[in-house]
Amino acid sequence: MRTADDLCQTLRRIDGRGYKAYRDVRGAFQLGDCELHIDHVQGDPFAAPSRLRARIPMEAAALPVDLFDSRVRRMALGDFLARCVRAAIRRIGGGRRGSGKSGEILVDAGGQEVLERTAIVLDDRFVEVRLQVGLPAGGRRILGREAEDLLCEDVPDIAHAGLTWEKIAHEEARRFVDCIDNQEHLRAQLRERDLVAFVADGSVLPRESGESDRPLRGDDAVPFASPDALRVTLPLAHPVEGADGLRDALTGMGIGRGVSLVAGGGYHGKSTLLRALQRGVYPHVPDDGREYVVSDPALVKIRAEDGRRVERADISAFIGDLPRGRDTRAFTSDDASGSTSQAANIVEAVEAGASGLLLDEDTSATNFMVRDARMQALVHKDHEPITPFVERVRELFDVHGVSSVLVMGGCGDYFDVADRVIVLREFQPIEATGEARDIAREHGTARASEASTPFGEVSPRMPQPESFDPSRGRRDVKIAARGVDLISYGSDDIVLRGVEQLVDASQTRAVGNAIHLAVERFMDGHTTLAEVLDRLDACFDEHGLDELDIYHRRGQHPGNFARPRRFEIAAAINRLRSVRMRTA
Ligand code: ADP
Ligand code: MG
Repeated sequence: MRTADDLCQTLRRIDGRGYKAYRDVRGAFQLGDCELHIDHVQGDPFAAPSRLRARIPMEAAALPVDLFDSRVRRMALGDFLARCVRAAIRRIGGGRRGSGKSGEILVDAGGQEVLERTAIVLDDRFVEVRLQVGLPAGGRRILGREAEDLLCEDVPDIAHAGLTWEKIAHEEARRFVDCIDNQEHLRAQLRERDLVAFVADGSVLPRESGESDRPLRGDDAVPFASPDALRVTLPLAHPVEGADGLRDALTGMGIGRGVSLVAGGGYHGKSTLLRALQRGVYPHVPDDGREYVVSDPALVKIRAEDGRRVERADISAFIGDLPRGRDTRAFTSDDASGSTSQAANIVEAVEAGASGLLLDEDTSATNFMVRDARMQALVHKDHEPITPFVERVRELFDVHGVSSVLVMGGCGDYFDVADRVIVLREFQPIEATGEARDIAREHGTARASEASTPFGEVSPRMPQPESFDPSRGRRDVKIAARGVDLISYGSDDIVLRGVEQLVDASQTRAVGNAIHLAVERFMDGHTTLAEVLDRLDACFDEHGLDELDIYHRRGQHPGNFARPRRFEIAAAINRLRSVRMRTA
């Protein structure tokens, strides 16, 4: 390995030369106890910044073993360290030193959710941070002095400040890791207790604003308080500070499997509760307010998404004969309607293995959700292809084991099919199952049941590998994420605006590359989509997310990835306009 002197001398030698000469600093350097690996050098000062890794031996980093002695704790500590590095960059470096991205230092640390990500690698031998750095230039000429400061001083300082036990806040680190561990401990108890979600008392669900994912602060935020009838107490793995001292269990509202209805007046907090549940599939940072809102990891948000593409989805349980005799057992559309898109979203979620569905009236197609007695009288069943969700929601659970949590303030027809009814009043939940049943008995709905055939098995689809084309121009593979909800895949755009449980642009980037990985390794035209997703998950479990580097530069900086769920990978494949599926 080359030394610090080698690096300095090289930078002095190329000072003032054209930017391309930066290629001479590629490779590994030993800077004190910090190993610097310069894996990729950007082509010019305006291109994506250079990728490098700074590695410190565990002997020097001295991170306590109990903070990373399980899969969950290692993930949590890694996430925490990435945040420490980000804070260190703000303190120490990152100032601009020239043209383009000169002097910029970036680390891919997370937001309110805590995810498995590639930014930090840690085991008992070393801890490593993956950075992106803009190598300094004046115009297109190398600024060697600035580069020397940046690479020989700032980067090692940042690595020490963010990664070594000596420099990071001990209490905060322990609290963070224990908090994530607690969340996963609670999540692991949901299934054995027949729950799909748990909302701890005292949680703060509302956010600061529509743009911000931070908690609403101050007296305006009404903390969550569970209704007696739905209260459960779940033990924690580590005690947490409560108003009355240390607690080793949390009480809160348990939402059972089956069909759960959330009703209540407008502006009383229904959608806010549902949004907390949909985010609750991921752990959250301490003090998020939703850190002890935990959902079954296989809950999928369902909404209407008109305009999306659908490929051979069997939506016949919801949509019967369409005008012009279109077959809804293998429904294909380049421009699905509100109801057909919502139906497709449901059967695709079930196909991918969803344990439950989350629906909000705000984002649902009305004609998909309800069809009341008067409308049944006006528009005869023979002329209405839709079997509304209210007719299928029980069957989905009773026959297929798929639960639902529905927000519905505008239609009481769901009283007949709900296992439990929660009413929100002034942001507080009230259990109203009995009352809703009484009302249902007194005021019959007068609507007739119209489903004539059972909701059968969702028939598996097999993605055809040749229908994926990641090439663009001269590049064989060109895949990029643009923010959280857009992937450009070759010359196609995959629009993910309706996929609400993607929460981080690095997840989206991972989804784009996961599709390519799946096409290359796991799709042969006969393997079902569900099997492909199984294999991707197994691959990530075994090899980690570095496997997503499409150029397979093992051991090098792979790019910034955070782990997506199988449902969001499936959602992207399902929305790729070129994709073709076969059914048996
Ligand atoms: P709904 O879906 O019942 O119409 P929303 O969930 O959209 O209501 O909430 C309406 C408003 O109230 C939002 O601005 C939201 O941030 C706020 N809100 C929701 N829950 C709370 C709470 N527990 N405390 C304070 N404000 C809240
Ligand atoms: Mg709402």
